[in-house]
Amino acid sequence: MIAAQGHSLMRLPAVDRVLGWPAVAALIDAHGRALVVQAVRDELASVRGQSAEFSEVSLVHSVDARVTALVAPSLRKVFNLTGTVLHTNLGRAPLPPQAIEAMVRVASGASNLEFDLATGKRGDRDVHVEEWLCRLTGAEAATVVNNNAAAVLLTLNSLALRKEVIVSRGELIEIGGAFRLPDIMARAGCKLREVGTTNRTHLRDFSQAIVAKTALVLKVHASNYSIQGFTAEADARELGLLCKAQGLPFVVDLGSGTLVDLARFGLPHEPTPMETLSEGADLVTFSGDKLLGGPQAGIIVGRSDLVAAIKKNPMKRAMRCDKLTIAALGEVLRLYADPQRLVQHIPTLRLLARPQVEIDAMARRLEPVLAKWLGERAHVSVVAVQSQIGSGSLPVDLLPSCALSITPVGAKRASGRALDQLAAHFRNLGTPVIGRIADGVFLLDLRCLEDEAGFLGMFTLPLA
Ligand SMILES: *Cc1c(COP(=O)(O)O)cnc(C)c1O
Repeated sequence: MIAAQGHSLMRLPAVDRVLGWPAVAALIDAHGRALVVQAVRDELASVRGQSAEFSEVSLVHSVDARVTALVAPSLRKVFNLTGTVLHTNLGRAPLPPQAIEAMVRVASGASNLEFDLATGKRGDRDVHVEEWLCRLTGAEAATVVNNNAAAVLLTLNSLALRKEVIVSRGELIEIGGAFRLPDIMARAGCKLREVGTTNRTHLRDFSQAIVAKTALVLKVHASNYSIQGFTAEADARELGLLCKAQGLPFVVDLGSGTLVDLARFGLPHEPTPMETLSEGADLVTFSGDKLLGGPQAGIIVGRSDLVAAIKKNPMKRAMRCDKLTIAALGEVLRLYADPQRLVQHIPTLRLLARPQVEIDAMARRLEPVLAKWLGERAHVSVVAVQSQIGSGSLPVDLLPSCALSITPVGAKRASGRALDQLAAHFRNLGTPVIGRIADGVFLLDLRCLEDEAGFLGMFTLPLA
């Protein structure tokens, strides 16, 4: 019996023979034949030529590991200890449980996504969020698309196709990745008309640029940079009045678009869509998964005739939100009905408002556990750091926080290789831990760590 001779050495077997071994047959039962065949082939190919003999036990073990890797989900939960709360590469805003429950409710079956239950006729998916968006921003109408980049693209294409859009030179932004305003303009089929200079743009720059081909004026919120020193920008209210007098829509891309006054959390005030509309903007666009703390979405609020024109654009169909997003966004918006309990309900706001003393206390609890786990490899200490909001929100404002500062022992203190290795150890954990390397140390900023027990559970066995 081969199975009984598990530890003996043998010649490399044929694929079919391996597939017949009981442990491998069990893998086929669990995961299907095709995956297991692939794993066996890959494993045999990788060991072929290394040595003449193998044990069945080690081969089965390797095949099992390969199958496990093949069926493991690619998209995984991680611990975001980078210190950037809204980290685009780590999925931005964590959703409130109410939003997750709403997604689960509609995910498993049919829903009235585009079906009017009152009339029994075809409906519009925007209705599930539009009323709340109007209530919270004071807008006449609202629509949602896949993300804010899409919101800007769709707005420009709907209102300014083959026409000119006036933008201040100080606002021709690039946002992480490939969102560059001039490129978006070109793809939207509009001609960019830059006015003013990088640091100073005046109202007269706009008024002088308005011609017959002008479709609208666009203002972009400086979300991931700040221009300081000798600066001037046209007053939004005056710009709004100028546009009104000229019969041009005034569109503002707010980026983050918080729905609450962040001063309540000790953060500098960030303009809200409601304020921006009341200052004279005809349309405001913003993200769903930045300071709002909801799912990825692009929200467009404002004048109903303009929103109607946007909704008629066939491109809207290509950018629409799916039912899960609409379910989650609807729930997050409803949570804003109770401003007193926002910090309790919206994880993003809770993380931003988290007091440093609380983070510090957690850091002191975790320090000895990680020190023990790392043993002789590295030294761990608690340090004060600054977290940032991220995703182009309030770029210059930092939140006092605490981190575990980890320094490799042995190698030169600032050795990049030793630090990279340390970071890799943390990424290899059951739930990968993502920190950041700064000034020769590996930092785990604990602001966004809420599942302390789950985190601790990974450090019970010493690092191999
Ligand atoms: C973030 C941002 C965008 C892009 O929004 P996404 O939701 O990431 O597509 C556009 N404009 C501004 C000003 C932003 O801050």
